[in-house]
Amino acid sequence: MNVSSTGRFATRMEGVPRSFIREILKVAISPEVISFAGGLPNKELFPLEELQASAAKLMSGSDRNILQYANTEGYLPLREKIAERYARKGLKIDSKNILITNGSQQGLDLLGKIFINEGDAVLMEEPGYLGAIQAFSIFHPRFVTVPLTDEGIDAQILKQKINAENPCLAYLIPNFQNPSGISYTEERRREVAEICQGKPMFLVEDDPYGDIRFRGERKNSFYHYLPEQTILLGTFSKTVVPAFRMGWIVAPDDVMERLIIAKQAADLHTDYFTQRLVHQYLSDYNIDQHILQICRAYGKQAEAMISAIERYFPKEVMFTGPEGGMFLWLTLPEGQSAMKLFDLAIKENVAFVPGNPFYVGKTDVNTCRLNFSCSNESEIEVGICRLAKVLTRLG
Ligand code: PMP
Repeated sequence: MNVSSTGRFATRMEGVPRSFIREILKVAISPEVISFAGGLPNKELFPLEELQASAAKLMSGSDRNILQYANTEGYLPLREKIAERYARKGLKIDSKNILITNGSQQGLDLLGKIFINEGDAVLMEEPGYLGAIQAFSIFHPRFVTVPLTDEGIDAQILKQKINAENPCLAYLIPNFQNPSGISYTEERRREVAEICQGKPMFLVEDDPYGDIRFRGERKNSFYHYLPEQTILLGTFSKTVVPAFRMGWIVAPDDVMERLIIAKQAADLHTDYFTQRLVHQYLSDYNIDQHILQICRAYGKQAEAMISAIERYFPKEVMFTGPEGGMFLWLTLPEGQSAMKLFDLAIKENVAFVPGNPFYVGKTDVNTCRLNFSCSNESEIEVGICRLAKVLTRLG
């Protein structure tokens, strides 16, 4: 019997979007295509030999506990290392307030589980991170969106919407946002914290890219301004490797308690061997040195993309100039369609992500996400040139 034909699926999956990017990546996979579509870190920079050595060291010992079930919160020495890294950025975080998760993507799911009742307002940036839209959608919230400006989320509109809609969470990416590459100014961070202060809500700061800064000065986390109402999401996906699915949540005690219950129900604990491996790697090597290499490489790639855009694109196409991360964002002249551009671009063997999936409830948009971390400088030059050719035909 085909069980699906009995109609026994739960309604909670209704309307949850399939990952549009994964669909696009299928088209962009052919070797002739220069793809700015993916969101992957550059695999050439993975610390393969170092991880091999740390894994060998771990496995050659006699500690059988590395292969055993473990506690839900995560390996304490790893949580302590994460807390130390925050301390160096001036944030005082106790390791007991850190929960190791299966990537920060699981953090989004767990937060949805413990905070969102059906119909609750969840405040998001527009454009916003597709993975968060997908993760929260399962809990059927009411998405309330606030546009991003070059300086971060629009503070005026944020204030109005918080007052009018009473969201349980505001989900923000202040550093090198996915998809736009935009970073919040220091002033905007302070303002956002001030607006949220005292409201019955949490600010969720998702920061997978914060360490990958290749230009400009480091800015303060919302936690610096509003520790009691800020939940932080972090990950080793962009600084070590994404395959390990090693992320974390920083949350106040009462939130932690519920997160731990939700995490137990989901998977008991994050892969313990991999937690030990990441800890071993962090003990054996200088991760900051490694991060510096990533920043240098991505900085050059971003510069190559911006320089090619300046030389080849029509002047009416606007673009962001990220100070870090992996993406930049194009805005086509009013009325032009990113989807139409995508269809034409694929025929010229160049791919990107049309802005559509980063908006809630908008079908045709004139914005595009371009990834620069996975192409070398000459591919970037050729790819942007191809895209420029298509742009002049778009009209
Ligand atoms: N948040 C944002 C903003 C991201 O860009 C990503 C990765 N694409 C994630 C979360 C998920 O990262 P992880 O690999 O830690 O699950």
